[in-house]
Amino acid sequence: MPGDGPDAGRAAPDDPTPVHRDDPVTALDGVGPATARRLHEAFGIATIGDLLAHYPRRHNDLGELMDLTAVTVGEPATLVGMVLDWTTRTVPRRGRRGRLTISEAVVATDPGPTFLVTYFNQGWRPNTLPPGTVAAFSGKVERFKSFLKLSAPEVVNLGRASMLEGDVDAAVASLDHQSLLPVYPATDDLPTWKLAGLVETVLDALVPVVDWLDLDLLDRHDLVDLDRALRWIHLPPDRPSLAAARRRLVFDELFTLQLGLQWRRAHLRARLAGVDNHPRPDGRAVALWSALPFRPTDAQTRAVAGIGADMGADTPMHRLLQGDVGSGKTLVAVHAMLTAVDNGRQAAMMVPTEVLADQHFLTLLDLLEPLGVNMFDGVRVELLTSSTTTSERRRILSGLLTGDVDMIVGTHALLEEGVRFADLGLVVVDEQHRFGVNQRVGLKAKRDATSADGRATIPDVLVMTATPIPRSLALTLYGDLDVTVLDELPPGRTPITTQYITPREAGRRERLYGFVRDQASRGLQTYVVCPLVEDSDADVLEGVRSAVSEHRRLQATFPDLEVELVHGQLSSADKEAAMTRFRTGAASILVATTVIEVGIDVPTATIMIIEDADRFGISQLHQLRGRVGRGTDTSYCVLFADPTTEEGDERLLAVAETTDGFALADVDLRLRGQGQLFGARQSGLPDLKLAQLHRDLSVVQATRNLARTVIDDDPEFARHPAMKAEVLRRYEGGLDDFAALETG
Ligand code: ADP
Ligand code: MG
Repeated sequence: MPGDGPDAGRAAPDDPTPVHRDDPVTALDGVGPATARRLHEAFGIATIGDLLAHYPRRHNDLGELMDLTAVTVGEPATLVGMVLDWTTRTVPRRGRRGRLTISEAVVATDPGPTFLVTYFNQGWRPNTLPPGTVAAFSGKVERFKSFLKLSAPEVVNLGRASMLEGDVDAAVASLDHQSLLPVYPATDDLPTWKLAGLVETVLDALVPVVDWLDLDLLDRHDLVDLDRALRWIHLPPDRPSLAAARRRLVFDELFTLQLGLQWRRAHLRARLAGVDNHPRPDGRAVALWSALPFRPTDAQTRAVAGIGADMGADTPMHRLLQGDVGSGKTLVAVHAMLTAVDNGRQAAMMVPTEVLADQHFLTLLDLLEPLGVNMFDGVRVELLTSSTTTSERRRILSGLLTGDVDMIVGTHALLEEGVRFADLGLVVVDEQHRFGVNQRVGLKAKRDATSADGRATIPDVLVMTATPIPRSLALTLYGDLDVTVLDELPPGRTPITTQYITPREAGRRERLYGFVRDQASRGLQTYVVCPLVEDSDADVLEGVRSAVSEHRRLQATFPDLEVELVHGQLSSADKEAAMTRFRTGAASILVATTVIEVGIDVPTATIMIIEDADRFGISQLHQLRGRVGRGTDTSYCVLFADPTTEEGDERLLAVAETTDGFALADVDLRLRGQGQLFGARQSGLPDLKLAQLHRDLSVVQATRNLARTVIDDDPEFARHPAMKAEVLRRYEGGLDDFAALETG
């Protein structure tokens, strides 16, 4: 700590020039333009605050740092030195088979003598600690001839250095009084001990940071103050302090994120008026419910009630409907669409692929049949995709403009300029993650109307996804969205049995094909999914299967069965023809790419074979598997794979183990980290440096609730100026920039 540590008497001036977080790093004593440039190039660090936010990756427990002359053989010690040289030799293992590889380094202390470090069967060690590396080694001290030696010690790489510059000394000094040693993301130029030194200089000179949260709030959430947290995250006196610091800084990251989201939500609500889509007791939505050939699940009924309440309110609905594959989202969507129609308005459903659009269109016709569809007095439903003929299109567009068409299902073709509505009341976006951000926003703009008080009106929006998003992520990414979860499958579904088969399990493919034939003789069908459309040279070398060649192969294997092929490069007509032959049962086997990932519903398909399954992500595998198990017959999913990474193996094991989409989403988040999930979607959202969504779920929830309370009560931060400043500081692009997230 400033002033009172054992470093008080070091070369640094007793009274360092005080610095603030917004100062450039050059404000620090001893930091010139050269260091400043290196900090900026390597890490984008420009200010003192940036340097403070360059958090350690971890802290190493070093134990007591010792001088070579003070150690005792047989006792543990930590020794710092520079690696001079490695030798590696292989010896037979005494009394056992195999050989032992011994890597031994000679390490020099500065200016003292050398000691030895040895590792066994860790041939990679020399590469991570090449000659010239300064490191701290902790382990039990042994004696070997005249040398002191550490066997397989813990090691902290302190970076590369030159003995001449006295760097080893400086590195040693940096360790001197700190038992929990921060290890920073570092470069050759800026090794971790140098960064530690810089941070320490900052902490010595830093004018106590004024907290943006008040004491009362800190108290209620059991948080340490910001100044202390910033010091402890770097140089904690002990582990509990480190944990407390992390907790506080994670809270800040998530709370500012949520405040921004809720703030923007309030803005949108103030600027935009919704349309009143009241559920009507005598309406067709209600009629649909009583005409169903099955009983809706409780989850569906709850969802419909929640959506009805949103649609009836005069603020725009902005709701995410999450439900695992087969949970019956389409029915809920159709109910909402009918509610809009019952109010004399139109409803549009946008889906990511043409195959899915066709499918949904058929489903809609089916569900609406009892109410009368596309006939006098019935609901008029149309389909619009890029393969709609010109004359059809003209007819449909005019129907939309006059209000004759009540519902439309389509692909992004719905977004085209010429598509205009008489009175668009509801937008449903299915599988929203497959759309680009702009596409998602686009459809909403198709309502061209102004409310009585002059605000623009926007339609209600219902976004659906069958890719379960871990709750932590949903609350963060969609912090300004209301979420409904269909957490119940319709009864009577038989669980899908999943097997994961590697090429080493001989004979299983043949047996499986026998089973495919068996099922086919009972009128049940099989999907075969491949990662590629066509063979390419590189992939053939790796033995990866393509849909085109697999189709040929299976035609030869099953000469007596019809084997169809569908992939994204076929014309719409060919795709539709293949799908129809499969749907009607004429074809027993459908070879496909991931074009069938979403929405396809063929209840008589009972086997899903996925080739090279390690090429797919968890959620894709889960979606693909969801294509079977949709009827009353027992269904099976087979994953063929020979993964090359442990992560790949874990993914496949997880999919084989559970069919719970939310559990899989959590595994996915753990295996891939939030970087990919979060980074890919983030648009203007502030960085999460410390927060780990799946680990910090409780903080995500707490901060979201807190942010809602603050904003509901004080939508413009009139009484919370410090909060406003902190939010603006973190949302660098400003809050308008992420308007793209608008429809989730
Ligand atoms: P999702 O889109 O959520 O994957 P779907 O809406 O496609 O699921 O529904 C899957 C299948 O289940 C459809 O054939 C649908 O008609 C049927 N279904 C929906 N709700 C129920 C229910 N409550 N009981 C029985 N079957 C249902
Ligand atoms: Mg669906």
